[in-house]
Amino acid sequence: MQRALAYGAFTAVIAFLLGYFGETWMGWVLFYIGLSVHLAMHYRNFSRLERWSHKPVLDASLEGDGEWDAVFRRLYRHEKELLEKIEHRERDIARLIAAVHAMNDGIVLLDGEFRIQFCNKTAERQLDIDSSTDRGAAIANIVRQPRFIDYLGKGDFTRPLVLRLDRYFERVLSLYLIAYAEDHWLLQVKDITQTDRLDSMRRDFVANVSHELRTPLTVLSGFVETLQEIELDADSRRHYLQLMGEQSQRMQSIVQDLLTLSSIESAPPPEDQPVDMASLVDKLYRDAVALSAGRHDIRLDSDGQGDLLGAESELVSALANLVANAVRYTPAGGTITLIWKISAEGAEFAVQDTGIGIDPKHIPRLTERFYRVDRGRSRDAGGTGLGLAIVKHSLNRHQATLEITSKPGEGSRFATRFPASRVTGL
Ligand code: ADP
Repeated sequence: MQRALAYGAFTAVIAFLLGYFGETWMGWVLFYIGLSVHLAMHYRNFSRLERWSHKPVLDASLEGDGEWDAVFRRLYRHEKELLEKIEHRERDIARLIAAVHAMNDGIVLLDGEFRIQFCNKTAERQLDIDSSTDRGAAIANIVRQPRFIDYLGKGDFTRPLVLRLDRYFERVLSLYLIAYAEDHWLLQVKDITQTDRLDSMRRDFVANVSHELRTPLTVLSGFVETLQEIELDADSRRHYLQLMGEQSQRMQSIVQDLLTLSSIESAPPPEDQPVDMASLVDKLYRDAVALSAGRHDIRLDSDGQGDLLGAESELVSALANLVANAVRYTPAGGTITLIWKISAEGAEFAVQDTGIGIDPKHIPRLTERFYRVDRGRSRDAGGTGLGLAIVKHSLNRHQATLEITSKPGEGSRFATRFPASRVTGL
């Protein structure tokens, strides 16, 4: 600013002297001196601007003379505003990219030739893309699934493509290609492994239920036809009716177990109440004796103390199933022991038998619905294949665990363990 004033004053003095000396040689000399000084000043400022324009960094020290100073200041202000805007935008873009990386769905941006331009972290994991090396690579060279390559080739993206990958464990991905901007594609990848598993479980379940009910129903309708068409004597008639009764009893058990399972699975857990375990275990023991009808040696090894906080009906369903299984799968003459113990870690109810035992390969699957080691044996013994599924769900609702140890031909032990927080009344 001071320099601007100095140049202004200098110009005013020259103008004054020019007027004073008039059009004499002295006047012309002064005029040229003034003009040269002026031109030199403009040249100096122009050179500064020229130098700055090669590397326009924000520089508050860029000062000019006269009007140049105002121009430099305006330039400085514009540049500062511009840089602030850019910084703002960069922060927005960084936040946007962080949000895209945080998404549960995989996102891959592709150009018109399906080459990778950007890929979020989820897509890196899902499709094994390495962003540092795969940028610019054709996606078909990275996801080398023939069905995916076919999908890209056909160009019909109205429906998503479902891919099954089994690199580490089976994963099911649903891929959507969405056109965006001009000639660009957004590949959205959803991991539907869980929903696919649930879907197939639901399908299997419906198929299993239909199959389980169809068998006794077929037998039953066969007997009905026989009774309708053939004249039978009283004994045969009684025999047929007894068989029909068994089949309808079987259907009733299946439906009853299905209802129990569905109520345990879907209804909210009932209020916890203290359940008197001494009398419950005693009742289970008497049920076992009744079920066994003298075929087994039934023993009770009980602490006889302590209540369990929980839903009594669900606890009864779970524990009674273990007792019924022990009776069902222990040949006559075997021993079945009901154990109830309380320790500092919690409480344990176990059923130990000297029955047929289970091959270790079946143990992890025993709590699946309708899973049986020997289908015929289970049916003959009146099993529905749902007992251990009911046990598992009901124990889950009490934060309890089930441990199965067994040796084929020697016997099994089904132990349920409840956390100490559920034990009261000591
Ligand atoms: P089921 O109604 O067939 O008994 P569960 O779900 O209760 O169905 O049991 C699943 C399978 O586990 C049974 O079919 C049987 O093969 C096996 N199992 C269960 N308990 C025992 C046991 N105590 N001893 C031997 N096998 C058992």
